[in-house]
Amino acid sequence: MYDQPLTRLKGVGEKKAEKLKKIGLVTFDDVLYDFPRRYMDRRFVKHVTEIASEEMGVISARVIKKRTKYIQKTKKEMLILDVTEGYFTGEILFFSSKFFMGDFEEGSHYFFYGKVEKSGPLFKMIQPDYAPIEDTSFLGIIPIYNATLGISQNDLVSVHRQVLRYLANQIEDTLPESLRAIAGIIPLETAMHQIHFPTSKEGYVTAKKRIVYDELFFLQLRLILLKRNYHKPLLKPFVLDAQMDAVMTRIPFELTNAQNAVLRDIFEDLQSGYSMNRLVQGDVGSGKTIIAFLTLLLSVFNGKQGILLAPTTLLAEQHYENFVKLFPDFTSCLLTSSVLTSEKKRIKAAILEGTIKVIIGTHAVIQDDVKFSNLGVVITDEQHRFGIRQRLSALQKAEKPHALIMSATPIPRTLSLILYGDMDISVIDQMPQGRKPIKTHFVLPSKVAEMYAFIAQKLEEGRQGYVICPLIEESETIDLNAAETVYKAMIKRFAPFKVGLIHGKMKAIDKDAIMHAFKSGEIALLVSTTVIEVGIHVANATSMVIMNTERFGLSQLHQLRGRVGRGDEQSYCFLLSEKLSTTAKQRVETLVGSNDGFEVAEKDLELRGPGEIFGLRQHGIPELKMANLIKHKEVIAAVQKHIRMILEEYNMNHQAYVTLINKQNINLEKWFTL
Ligand code: ADP
Ligand code: MG
Repeated sequence: MYDQPLTRLKGVGEKKAEKLKKIGLVTFDDVLYDFPRRYMDRRFVKHVTEIASEEMGVISARVIKKRTKYIQKTKKEMLILDVTEGYFTGEILFFSSKFFMGDFEEGSHYFFYGKVEKSGPLFKMIQPDYAPIEDTSFLGIIPIYNATLGISQNDLVSVHRQVLRYLANQIEDTLPESLRAIAGIIPLETAMHQIHFPTSKEGYVTAKKRIVYDELFFLQLRLILLKRNYHKPLLKPFVLDAQMDAVMTRIPFELTNAQNAVLRDIFEDLQSGYSMNRLVQGDVGSGKTIIAFLTLLLSVFNGKQGILLAPTTLLAEQHYENFVKLFPDFTSCLLTSSVLTSEKKRIKAAILEGTIKVIIGTHAVIQDDVKFSNLGVVITDEQHRFGIRQRLSALQKAEKPHALIMSATPIPRTLSLILYGDMDISVIDQMPQGRKPIKTHFVLPSKVAEMYAFIAQKLEEGRQGYVICPLIEESETIDLNAAETVYKAMIKRFAPFKVGLIHGKMKAIDKDAIMHAFKSGEIALLVSTTVIEVGIHVANATSMVIMNTERFGLSQLHQLRGRVGRGDEQSYCFLLSEKLSTTAKQRVETLVGSNDGFEVAEKDLELRGPGEIFGLRQHGIPELKMANLIKHKEVIAAVQKHIRMILEEYNMNHQAYVTLINKQNINLEKWFTL
């Protein structure tokens, strides 16, 4: 029924159908879910006297005389209707007489809807909507749809009206009545009629509520069902014993309470006999890496391999170095695209054989033909770079490995439940002791010289610093030039201190060399593009200059800033920009005012919306038509509660819910097309 072509409708031939296709309308179903952009309130016919000048309104008037007038400027004939309404007379103007002439007869009554302009006793309306007075369907709340060339609003209204008529009493409800009662929502059929042709404000409001609920409900349900497949019991729980205590004593610092609490969550999962599926959120510098390492080790103690995936080669290398430094007695390997082919071969063989227990690498590499002997845990150091699909493909590697995702952008709980479905969530809400909040300043062009003098002073004291240049995605060359120009300028300015340059287009081996020189202190000041963004750790670096601040997003700026402030020294972040837009200004203000990743993320959400930040589309989450992930937080919370209830009832074989869930034939490919 829903998939019938629109040519079945009156007034829609092949030609019009082609045009409707352009705006995505091919079948009845498309039309049903093509919601109005806004509405015109044409419910009440008023007297001209009741409508203020320049206000919109419906009047009913009699056409006394039709006449035309040639307009020099447009070289067109205009149609003028002289009309009377009660004691008043007026003129109704249409720009093309040819087009409208035939629609009116002298002596007949018509409805007109438009802006009323008054001058003295006369009134005027220009190009209003109209209908003969017998056509009462003209009156009401009338939808306005997204249009396209060659299709009028009247056509669109007619198409939608006809489809609703065709489907009358046949719109099947997507939710069982029992759930509608719990959620306090109206039937879908009523909602569809009311959303397209509301009879009252209330009708519209309840219809919208139902449709928003639907969108969020099915989004969440599918995500949860999808991941439930990976949430199956494991045969053998991990054992936590004295071996862990022994490695814990090797950590060169005291774990924070927050780190300990998160570790407890993870270890409990691993000992539970069920597969772990946990997200760890923690601001930059909160100490997520050590948690990943200890989780890998617990896997090894239980005879299983563990993987740690990083979003960039640089970061994978850093994790690997740190791991080897702390735990040289465990067999581990680094697997990235810069590893030589022969070496890769050897590593892959060892992984398959099971002699290498800990694998640290980038996602790209793990996705190839790496086979494991006995994979226990997959940890993804995410920083919001991987989509759900990629995560799932890592999970598919072994039968049911434990999954841990580490994310540096704290997000509100309801949202993370949408993005991470039924994952358990732990938050590291505390920084290691002794960290001083980074001092962030916006630097006016007139103060730039002073700022450089300040940084030179810090270099003099033995500290290091970063200068970050933006990445311009469209043009690799401009990108390079920007960083290179800045690099040359910095060499001059900071001589005799050694300045380095690093960017994404460099060979891995050269990047490595530069990073090593920076870490060892040989390079004092590092000019970099955003390759430095993720996870790089040099505690002695205490100053950061960000050029062209306006080019960066808020969360990205916060991530960048997190490269300093990693030791006990006071750190500084200087934001430079020559032209700040209003929102860029708000971003700067937020950063200057707060060091708290959670606050920054909330503000970012507000300024940009969740879609843009989390790349919802990239995550495979379809576009929401009515629901809004920020505005409808309470609906999301309700939906989540109801789904938990439904899944329980489903397991108890409650027929309505069994049907509902079975209908969700989930197609991975469709939902997670890259
Ligand atoms: P992130 O959460 O951004 O990944 P890291 O794990 O890179 O943070 O940790 C940042 C730095 O803080 C590292 O040098 C790490 O060794 C150090 N660190 C982590 N936890 C603690 C702690 N509890 N006390 C002191 N330093 C810590
Ligand atoms: Mg990290």
